Amino acid sequence: MNARQLRRPLALAIHGGAGVIERNALGAEAERAIRAELDRVLDAGHAVLGNGGTALDAVEAAVAMLEDSPYFNAGYGAVFTADGRHELDASIMDGHGRRAGAVAGVSTVRHPVQLARRVLEESSHVFLIGEGAEQYADTHPDIERVPNEWFDTEPRREQLRQAQQREQRAWKASQDLRGKYFGTVGAVALDSHGHVAAATSTGGMTNKRWGRVGDSPLIGAGTWADAHCAVSCTGWGEYYIRNAVAHDIAARVAYRGDRLQVATEDVILGEVPAHGGDGGAIALDREGNIALVLSTAGMYRGWIGPDGSRGIAIYQDA
Ligand code: ASP
Repeated sequence: MNARQLRRPLALAIHGGAGVIERNALGAEAERAIRAELDRVLDAGHAVLGNGGTALDAVEAAVAMLEDSPYFNAGYGAVFTADGRHELDASIMDGHGRRAGAVAGVSTVRHPVQLARRVLEESSHVFLIGEGAEQYADTHPDIERVPNEWFDTEPRREQLRQAQQREQRAWKASQDLRGKYFGTVGAVALDSHGHVAAATSTGGMTNKRWGRVGDSPLIGAGTWADAHCAVSCTGWGEYYIRNAVAHDIAARVAYRGDRLQVATEDVILGEVPAHGGDGGAIALDREGNIALVLSTAGMYRGWIGPDGSRGIAIYQDA
């Protein structure tokens, strides 16, 4: 890399999901551990950019680390389906050239984001699901596989128990999922070439059935990147699909010249709640502006700006 390229600003933002995250419920120890985890991921993702890696490399690396953390609903620590298994979804998009890859309903891939990257790089397709995605993983021996139970964690099992009890008590009320999801992970990055990329990975919603897939692996809903900006979302997926949230944010920037912060707020605090949903999004443009917006009580998030400023936050205010 030459000196001119090195002067270009680098930036990275990550999220570990939005939802009802309350100070008292989380506990001081878990909060410290989650903040430390987000810090570690920021450092590693930013180091990829600092070493001349692409935005695509950085978001893949950051999301793969978040997939390994039990605190977030992706990879190890993913939520349970109604029949006590895990079905994982992930997507990744490169704003430069608009290349994209996604997988849904995979059950033995330790890092679904890495498989999504392989779909982007090495297949002529964008989106592979279920058994077919597993077969595609079989053709890539370096994609790490694990038994489905490997993703089990006790707090997620307890979440499933509670969701199923709520469902038995009052089916209709249990279908109101506002804020009742946690921990989808995502990242957006700006590299030394001035290119942006986004990636998102999730276990979906607790107690899901019938092969339900949310917004996270859907290009344009949960993930988007183009020449202007990159977006990764988290929230009640059905509403993010109906509102094509990630693309709507980017379209406002591209077609109307909205500032990134304004576009992200208008969609996350305006459109999504107006239709009955909730959640958050992180977005980054090619100047390095970062928007982290949530309509829920909390969203695990962290960022390193182009001037080196950095932060970690969980709640609305900190
Ligand atoms: N958006 C994800 C889904 O609906 C859930 C989340 O963000 O926590 O699958």
